[in-house]
Amino acid sequence: MGRQMNACREVLRLNVDGTYLGRKFLAYRSQTSLLIALTALLGAGEWVLDYMNDPATAGNLVWLRLAFVWMLIPAWGVWLTSNHTLAALIALFALALAQFHDIAILKTQSGGLTPAIMSSIFYPMVAVLLCLGFSLFVNWMALALVSISPFLLAKTGWLGNFPYQLYGMVIWPTSIFLALICVAFAFGDRRRHLLEKALEDASNTDPLTGVANRRHFQLLLQRETSRFLRTSHPCTLLMLDIDHFKRINDTFGHPTGDRAIQALANICCKMSRDVDIVARLGGEEFAILMPETVLERSAHLAERIRLQVQELKMRCNSGSEFQWTVSIGIASLQLPAQAGKDAAGLGEQLMTRADAALYDAKNAGRNLTRFAT
Ligand code: GH3
Ligand code: MG
Ligand code: MG
Repeated sequence: MGRQMNACREVLRLNVDGTYLGRKFLAYRSQTSLLIALTALLGAGEWVLDYMNDPATAGNLVWLRLAFVWMLIPAWGVWLTSNHTLAALIALFALALAQFHDIAILKTQSGGLTPAIMSSIFYPMVAVLLCLGFSLFVNWMALALVSISPFLLAKTGWLGNFPYQLYGMVIWPTSIFLALICVAFAFGDRRRHLLEKALEDASNTDPLTGVANRRHFQLLLQRETSRFLRTSHPCTLLMLDIDHFKRINDTFGHPTGDRAIQALANICCKMSRDVDIVARLGGEEFAILMPETVLERSAHLAERIRLQVQELKMRCNSGSEFQWTVSIGIASLQLPAQAGKDAAGLGEQLMTRADAALYDAKNAGRNLTRFAT
């Protein structure tokens, strides 16, 4: 019971979360856009039904039916935008206007409004399909809109002898049923979201330490170097490597070596800012990418990490205490030196320079911080 309650709470929370809704919309965008375009073609193509209904008056409806191609404009709008709120507004507007357009045509048909208005049953179904890429609330809003608007139009007198009872008997059970289907879709979307997130986390994270892995780090580094090329804002990279780590493994065993790696990851995360990116590049080697940071400030962080590691006392499985140290290389992005490079080349060059600085620190005796030239 508690789990179901949590799932319900999370569905509600996700359906107001802009990041989730933005991603969901992008996943459904082409489908939503295509559906609006298909509704345009269906609206125009229904002229065939008009003809079958009454060939005598069908000729008068050709242009009204063809006018349905206006729906290609909102279809195009949804295709172009990445903003889910704007897309939802476009979809709701298109839906309401299409229904109004349809009713305007149905009103002119022979046979009276009673059989004609029943084709409005089509709109709750389109409302659900069109709004699959939006929040549960937008889905319900779309259903409410298409269910209520013929009643409102009838109140203005524009629909003449509106068959309230008959319309209500068909539209309300359909809309309520579809509103519940939307809830089922929302739970399905949440499950897919959780699975995608778990997969994404697994492919981006180092399992031993929980920090970013090398693959993810390279992606984030490229993002930072692209930003540097656009804005020239500073960015610094720290490369850290545990000194004589092989000795720790050989003396105290692999599990203790693993704990030293985890301890370094914890220190790096605790000492850096939220915007800094801590990653394990492999073995006992780590990187900290510091956006918007000049060399001097990152040197300060490097020294604090180095001293913290130096002070740290760890216990091996047999209970005896041991200490270890770390060497650090620092390089930062500089404009004139890297002119002409692309983001990937710049990232690679930054890593090579930080690595060279790290090896300077190793060669100069270890437990040191060195800058790239
Ligand atoms: P230096 O001071 O020059 O860096 O010497 P080092 O011994 O630290 O350097 P080296 O790169 O030669 O040794 C790294 C060792 O790290 C070798 C490898 O067995 C060990 N290693 C790599 N990955 C892991 C891991 O996940 N856990 C443990 N415990 N050891 C690992
Ligand atoms: Mg090492
Ligand atoms: Mg190493």
